[in-house]
Amino acid sequence: MVVDRSRRRCLLCDRPFTGRAFTCRECAERYREGPVPDDVLRRFYTQVDIEYPEWANTYGNYNPPRALLGYLDSIDRARSILELGAGGGFLLEELWRSGFRELTGSDITTSALREIQRRTGDLHVVGADAESLPFVDGAFDIVITSDVIEHLVRVDMHLADVARILRPGGQYLLKTPSRRPAELYYRLRGLYDHHIWHPSMFSPKELRQAFARHGFDVSFLPVGELTAAQIRKVPTGIGKAVFRLLPLHRLPVALHPHMEIVATKRN
Ligand SMILES: [Zn+2]
Repeated sequence: MVVDRSRRRCLLCDRPFTGRAFTCRECAERYREGPVPDDVLRRFYTQVDIEYPEWANTYGNYNPPRALLGYLDSIDRARSILELGAGGGFLLEELWRSGFRELTGSDITTSALREIQRRTGDLHVVGADAESLPFVDGAFDIVITSDVIEHLVRVDMHLADVARILRPGGQYLLKTPSRRPAELYYRLRGLYDHHIWHPSMFSPKELRQAFARHGFDVSFLPVGELTAAQIRKVPTGIGKAVFRLLPLHRLPVALHPHMEIVATKRN
């Protein structure tokens, strides 16, 4: 996420420190072994929006799920779609432009909800916790999340609830980092607090298994190129040029920096 080393304030305790992380080492260590309490996480993300607005998806469209958008292009426009963790509403806006009308967006932070409402005035906007969804069974044809599940503490609760609100044969379209390349990157960059902001990361195999537990079959979409946010993380100069040209579609899926999948709920 944040790559420039600088003097900054810990988002949890407000003490100054020097580094690339969001929190000081003491706060990172405090939550190393167990889940981060919900109220602490809420404070953390609210502070991210305030301290690093250029990095928070609420205010910038840095990570479009390109493979998912390509897949959605082939989908019947009458399908009902729910996006969870919709951030600033950029993806919903793009779906609206491409002809989808049965769109619902939701997010947990009030700043995100305001921004979605502002950008996409005529859509349904619902405040929702992705682990406990306020929708009836079988309410949607498609659920989408982009860079969301890695932030969730209780992914199994989330998947159970998504399975519940999808109709039989419905699909969960999802983009998330790939655990091993991500952990390697965080270690190299001194992001010792990633267990706070990415508590739930998966390898391709782990993701397939998690979905199988909730009655989904998973297929991985080819991921062709790095997004702008991923390129920005690469060290400057020649590294950036090389990374732009990398033929990622030829790498095994376990080495891709992120995964985009279509998970279909079995009938
Ligand atoms: Zn701290």
